[in-house]
Amino acid sequence: MPVRAGLFVEGPPPALLAGHCRGCANHHFPRQPVCPYCSAETVDEVLLRGPGRLWVHTAVTAAPPGYEGEVPYGFGVVELPEGLRVVGRLTEAEPARLRPGQPMVLAVVPLHVDDEGREVLTYAFAPGDTEPRDR
Ligand SMILES: [Zn+2]
Repeated sequence: MPVRAGLFVEGPPPALLAGHCRGCANHHFPRQPVCPYCSAETVDEVLLRGPGRLWVHTAVTAAPPGYEGEVPYGFGVVELPEGLRVVGRLTEAEPARLRPGQPMVLAVVPLHVDDEGREVLTYAFAPGDTEPRDR
């Protein structure tokens, strides 16, 4: 089950549930009922599948409060072809194996197993060899 409802669809193929504003044409993620750029209430839900390009990245080596998954894990920002920069987990935990600008594909990965034995899933970006389309 997803770590939070309304963030992504599992697929295949997986996709992020983003917002697209009819007023200013900007995308945002996660989707909000009101556009964060122009405050318009005309926000459509759109599925963004990538691939994107790695913008910045790091490794998280100490578990944040409340986090029950494994460390270390990769964390970074990926720019999607829609111009949206998405913050999220990376499947590659070793920073030296990643470089800014490289293609990244969307994935859905296990985060941890909850108290009732259910696998909790989240979205992540994985190194890929598919070049993002140009804007
Ligand atoms: Zn807007």
